[in-house]
Amino acid sequence: MDDFGTKENITWCRGCGNFGIFVALKNAFAKLGWGPDDVLLVYGIGCHGHMVNYLNTFGFEGLHGRGLPVATGAKLANHKLNIIAIVGDGDQLGEGGNHFLHACRRNVDITCIIHDNQVYGLTVGQSSPTSAKGFKSRTAPIGTVEEPVNPISLALAAGAPFVAQGFSGDIKQLTDLFVEAIKHKGFSLVNVFQPCVTFNYLNTYQWFYDRVYKVEDTGHNPSDKLAAFQKALELETKLPTGIIYNAERPLFEDSLPQIAKDPLVNQPIDDINIEKLFTEFR
Ligand code: SF4
Repeated sequence: MDDFGTKENITWCRGCGNFGIFVALKNAFAKLGWGPDDVLLVYGIGCHGHMVNYLNTFGFEGLHGRGLPVATGAKLANHKLNIIAIVGDGDQLGEGGNHFLHACRRNVDITCIIHDNQVYGLTVGQSSPTSAKGFKSRTAPIGTVEEPVNPISLALAAGAPFVAQGFSGDIKQLTDLFVEAIKHKGFSLVNVFQPCVTFNYLNTYQWFYDRVYKVEDTGHNPSDKLAAFQKALELETKLPTGIIYNAERPLFEDSLPQIAKDPLVNQPIDDINIEKLFTEFR
């Protein structure tokens, strides 16, 4: 685990749920036997994105909501590299909502970890797409009037073959979920509930502890998509955690003849006539 640390001062607020996700990620990398060179982490914009400074791996912090397109592009350039998109609820389900749908249906072999704190934390406390109806914030002083996005039912409906949900207050379970999501061949989502202790006074640690439960304790069958939808729709009253859905689907990259033999990054470019291309597109 120590190999993944850096000397940067961590500036997250004391008690932020980001810490639990950060530790679980390092645990998962150690369990997988990875070193810092074995993975590229692509970040969106949000407090979670500061992790690019704290985790010693290949890293890229993209534009707001654009973590998944960058991760997809990187995977298609080098599909032998492990790639994880670290994104936020507002970041990925607001600005990046369109990218989320298409990543789920496209099924490129990347893992997407959503830091779901139900608020825009970095920009000091506006309602996000997963904020509960009635949640009071700077943009909704009398309470949010919209229904929240349900990240896992959205992912299931869009075709994601692996959908899991965790809680930053349970690092052991979160570590196992990250390992399983990373090992899964295809697009995998782990939606992680994480308290924002500074701007979200509704979804506190206690609020989560009162509602989370493990789906494996109820005999849930993750290969049953209908059962997965039923778990996803419990979100208003209970918070199911664990592997909600797990299935195999053909990989997007396996259907591309250009990279069937070798990743693009390993292919020679000496015989490509750049001038001819310039002339053609000038
Ligand atoms: Fe964490 Fe919220 Fe502080 Fe951001 S503002 S570091 S999400 S507690």
